[in-house]
Amino acid sequence: MRLGLPIAPFLGLFAGQKSIPPAILRSALIVGKYFGLFQIARYMTRDGLRIICYHGVAVAEEYKYRSRLFIRKELFRQRIEYLQSKRYPILPLGEALDALALGGLPPCATVVTMDDGWEGVYSVALPIIKELGIPVTLYVPTYYIEHPMPVFSVTLAYLFWRTKAQGVHLPRRLGRFVLDSQAEQAEALAQEFGASLPAADRLKFLREMAEALDVSFEDIETRRLFRALDEQQLRQLADAGVDIQLHSHRHEWPLDDREKVEWEIAKNRAVLERLVSRPLEHFCYPSGAYALPDGRLLFASELNQGEWLAALGVKSATTIEPGLNYPDTPRFALRRLMDGHPVSDIEFEAEMSGLMEIVRALRERRFFRMLRRRFRSYSHHSGSSLQDSKHDRGMRASGRNS
Ligand SMILES: [Zn+2]
Repeated sequence: MRLGLPIAPFLGLFAGQKSIPPAILRSALIVGKYFGLFQIARYMTRDGLRIICYHGVAVAEEYKYRSRLFIRKELFRQRIEYLQSKRYPILPLGEALDALALGGLPPCATVVTMDDGWEGVYSVALPIIKELGIPVTLYVPTYYIEHPMPVFSVTLAYLFWRTKAQGVHLPRRLGRFVLDSQAEQAEALAQEFGASLPAADRLKFLREMAEALDVSFEDIETRRLFRALDEQQLRQLADAGVDIQLHSHRHEWPLDDREKVEWEIAKNRAVLERLVSRPLEHFCYPSGAYALPDGRLLFASELNQGEWLAALGVKSATTIEPGLNYPDTPRFALRRLMDGHPVSDIEFEAEMSGLMEIVRALRERRFFRMLRRRFRSYSHHSGSSLQDSKHDRGMRASGRNS
């Protein structure tokens, strides 16, 4: 029996505090999978709700520029087909959260979320979503519905990524920069300047920047790169059953200003209410984490804004903190599993199995707490646990776990 044999060295490798180089991590995961650790992890973490986070779906080659932000449709399809073939039940967000609270989640329940409402979700992903018949929650900021143009910050960064120019004369007398050594500085200045402009002028500035960097703005527009969904597309997504939810109006999140928080939610909701008939009661923190002036990262869940959000009729909020969700996970700090091109197949499988959650628990010294929770819930639902292990063995026997 090969099971269990490599557990000690495997756990030893991961329990350390040092970060593991990706190549070593992937090799270790392949070995771990061979020895059955994914099955054990799946069994141990079966009560954990998996919420996967995607962003845009590429309409052209923008995944080469931001491989976390835009996923190719082929990979998106492959991931969903993997989940379906491995029988991860994909549930609507609201239904999954209700079941999580009441203790009625099916084993390894999974939710698919997509952030930001990029146009590719409609033009590229919707046919796949319909064909594979999966529920999806889409968190939509609404500023670009009112001001249609390519999303400023992402498009501007793309211009700097795309340009072959050696130097740039920034428009509006912002100065001249050598791109070999000063690209970062030039981009930061242009980002800051553009962000301060009213919408119409911001679009004009973006065109001037494209010209200054010798990148075709027409090409960006023809291919609909970096466009957010418009009203009609959102309506059609909602009609097709996609669950549209809140993500703030401007994709900005005030750290400690309750009035601004209320404005962002109220405005976001007012725009979406015109397009969606279902309740708008789930929220995703824009960007999820904030860099404080001292360089420390503050995670959205540390903001303790749950009370504010609850008062606004919001029932849940998702973050970008990695992890699975249990009945005791705060409802306004739900964890998600980020997916995209930097995540290899084996890493995705390890995340979904729950093995990476166990690794995180080991590294954060909360492994025994996790075990206690597992056995407590085992004694409550022992009947369905057996069913799941039988089901897991069935999949091993059918050889579909490679
Ligand atoms: Zn976002």
